[in-house]
Amino acid sequence: MADEADIANDAILADMERRIAQQRAAANKPATTHCVECEEPITPARQKLRLDLCIDCAQLRERASRAFRRD
Ligand SMILES: [Zn+2]
Repeated sequence: MADEADIANDAILADMERRIAQQRAAANKPATTHCVECEEPITPARQKLRLDLCIDCAQLRERASRAFRRD
């Protein structure tokens, strides 16, 4: 039982470390000014967050991932 919990904890930690590394890499790259999906301009607020999708594409992606998870 404890082993399973440890394995799950390791997976969560590994995932967190991966996200932090991604955020560090993102902080170093220049802001994306146009959506990588549809090439519409990205709002300055989203550029500051180093997002590379416009709000429309981000919402589409969010909806798609929710449908995939089914929760
Ligand atoms: Zn877009």
